[in-house]
Amino acid sequence: MAEGQMDTQAEVESLNREVATCPLCDLRESRIKAVPGEGPLDAEVMFIGEAPGYHENVQGRPFVGPSGQFLDELLASIGLRRDAVFITNVVKCRPPNNRDPLPHEIETCAPYLNRQIALIRPKVVVTLGRFSMAKFFPGQSISKIHGQPRREGAVIYYPMYHPAAALHRQELKEAVRQDMLRIPDLVAQARAAAPVSQEPAPSDEAPQQLSLF
Ligand code: URA
Repeated sequence: MAEGQMDTQAEVESLNREVATCPLCDLRESRIKAVPGEGPLDAEVMFIGEAPGYHENVQGRPFVGPSGQFLDELLASIGLRRDAVFITNVVKCRPPNNRDPLPHEIETCAPYLNRQIALIRPKVVVTLGRFSMAKFFPGQSISKIHGQPRREGAVIYYPMYHPAAALHRQELKEAVRQDMLRIPDLVAQARAAAPVSQEPAPSDEAPQQLSLF
């Protein structure tokens, strides 16, 4: 592993430990396991959901319940496995009875997500549902803007419906499927927009992770 990646690995591990024992809001009382999120350090795509649900709270991993199964299916539709992308949430601990996260919980938890974005530096940030959409597309309505990417510098932000919403409403299911199909093209666009690295190419190091698409 290259030196920079080792630092990033250490920082991600440190963040995960902080999240696991986070004392900052009342959700600490009811959680079984905090769910920091997971994925490779060089993930080009980051999916941001809302908050852990029942299964995630038990396992400490994001999107492992029914909406996770649907997310896996959606990823497969574009030839991706979940271990090729970074998956996290706006709020890292389960709200009791899966209620919506409260504004002060979202605000208190935001520095964790901000640090994850800064460490992973995804090319495409996919928001799943209205809570993560609100962070990057404030004041917007998901029914109006889903599937419409916005580029900022070299990063593309892409709002999608939450898979759980699509599981409950058949008409959203097709929209989610269609929106997912655009992601490979967004990754290609973001790659093309990325500034060319000034560092000399390492001559005898192991190759970096192969392209996703
Ligand atoms: N829903 C989410 O928003 N996140 C999860 O991790 C699981 C379900």
